[in-house]
Amino acid sequence: MDCRSSDSLKNAPPPFARLNYRDPILGYEFESETDYFNRIEMDPPNTRTTKYCSACNMITPRRCHHCPLCKICVLRKDHHCFLTGGCVGLANQRYFIVFLFWSVFGALYGALLTFYYLNDFVTPWFPFGWFTYAGPVALVRYAFGYESLFNMFIAVMFSMSFSSGFGALAFFGFQMYYTLHGYTMHDYHVARLKDHLESDGENYTERLALVFGRRWWMNFIFPQFWVPNHLTPNIARNIFLSVSKDL
Ligand SMILES: [Zn+2]
Ligand SMILES: [Zn+2]
Repeated sequence: MDCRSSDSLKNAPPPFARLNYRDPILGYEFESETDYFNRIEMDPPNTRTTKYCSACNMITPRRCHHCPLCKICVLRKDHHCFLTGGCVGLANQRYFIVFLFWSVFGALYGALLTFYYLNDFVTPWFPFGWFTYAGPVALVRYAFGYESLFNMFIAVMFSMSFSSGFGALAFFGFQMYYTLHGYTMHDYHVARLKDHLESDGENYTERLALVFGRRWWMNFIFPQFWVPNHLTPNIARNIFLSVSKDL
């Protein structure tokens, strides 16, 4: 469900029916249903400071994005993570980035250990043994009786930890890139929202403090769950009032 399209806004019951809503920038109170829809016609979605989520039935900050799997609006949503089974947003992105960082070391260490085993006890890597280290190749060799079950298992483990190690490294790089530029993966890749939004924060320090809280690097040693996300007045305005580049 797309909370941003004007169609979903038109189908939704008008917000003034439920709460005393005053648009923070328009400073305008809706007089009737017709008035409300007229204002929406005049004011295309990209220039509105808030939006209406028809799934949650409420007005949300524009930097909230509804997740149909979690069934909630997530503030500064990055993405829905299928591996951890939840959404990554402003409140938990720091743990996600640290998770990726240490995953790289864990997975590559596992790959190294299984590599030693395969190299020493199964087939030397050089010149042609590396071919049998690949999971699918090992599976086929096992199916035709050229490989034991255990060695096939180790080769599959090697392939998985090797690829997930470099996958996590790439993902970590992307996450840091988005964070340092003051955006999220959602802003970059969903409907090019980046083109319509100002970045959060003026510099790298502000942007790291937004996601990690003060002393961002401490999170990589121990998760700093008691340190709140640090929002400057401009960042708070950008997230909750969502100033658009189109204004
Ligand atoms: Zn929602
Ligand atoms: Zn989700």
